[in-house]
Amino acid sequence: MVCMRIVVVAGGVGGARFLLGVRAAAPDATITAVVNTGDDVTMHGLRICPDLDSVMYTLGDGTDPVRGWGRRDETWVVKDELAAYGADPTWFGLGDRDLATHLVRTRMLDAGYPLSEVTAALAQRWQPGVDLVPMSDQRVETHVVVDDPATGRRQAIHFQEWWVRHRAAPEPHAFVQVGVEDARPAPGVVEAFAGADAVLLAPSNPVVSIGTVLGVPGLREALLATPSRIVGLSPIVGDAPVRGMADRCLPAVGVQVSAEGVGRHYGARSDGGLLDAWVVHEGDTADVPGVDVRTVPLLMTDLAATQAMAQAALHAARA
Ligand code: GDP
Ligand code: CA
Repeated sequence: MVCMRIVVVAGGVGGARFLLGVRAAAPDATITAVVNTGDDVTMHGLRICPDLDSVMYTLGDGTDPVRGWGRRDETWVVKDELAAYGADPTWFGLGDRDLATHLVRTRMLDAGYPLSEVTAALAQRWQPGVDLVPMSDQRVETHVVVDDPATGRRQAIHFQEWWVRHRAAPEPHAFVQVGVEDARPAPGVVEAFAGADAVLLAPSNPVVSIGTVLGVPGLREALLATPSRIVGLSPIVGDAPVRGMADRCLPAVGVQVSAEGVGRHYGARSDGGLLDAWVVHEGDTADVPGVDVRTVPLLMTDLAATQAMAQAALHAARA
């Protein structure tokens, strides 16, 4: 097979699992993962990039297979010690092994290195087998507009506070990308799209993962300028996300929780949208005008199933 250049737009856990399949399906390809950094947060003085770390640990064979995020064989001594001081926030899972990543990252950022270079440096250890690129070097942090349960006052809270602390329970009125107006695509992103043979939108959260990446000024334009086909995969199977709480995000942006709803939300490239092809789960139907809709099994139960799913997406990209 000729050497392909594949770009995958991804969030955290769903994106990471899908990338395992892409890497297995195209072992000779150059794969660039453009990863959401809207979930990034500073806690206890440390800069944390949950989605980049999910992809790095998963592809580097260092992730906890049960949780699906963070490090295998993790311990939580520092988290307990912080809690003993009453140091907020106590609701965020910071493992001891994981902490080393955030310490190295924060030190490098403080020394002036941009996030893309810091990410490449961290990846030296993990050898993920893909070029791991943040969507932007500039800070963009997703906030969620909710009604404070105590006061009823409308306010914006950090995405992590809504997602992790409150389990996405408060009704989201809107998602706001704080800082996005000053953001640009990270070095390598525009070039990766321009040189791609296939562009895949992972079955990641359409609102707070894929949507956030595409919100970076200039990134959507760079994606659409790609000479390759753009293929998306549905994170919704039946009428629910396979994992996680994407069903809490989609209605807030007026999108039905279905493969068809998300496909229409992304829209046909021929009609101002993103997609040339849309891959939905066996048994689901999706009428997305102007888009080549394919049906294949979309459950990432093991590597073989995930590889087959990636293969189908790459096939759709060649058509
Ligand atoms: P996060 O940043 O960790 O929330 O992860 P992503 O945004 O990358 O991915 C979350 C999405 O992955 C969820 O909406 C899930 O529905 C989707 N997902 C997880 N596992 C599977 C799977 O096996 N198949 C499909 N089609 N989607 C999945
Ligand atoms: Ca995420």
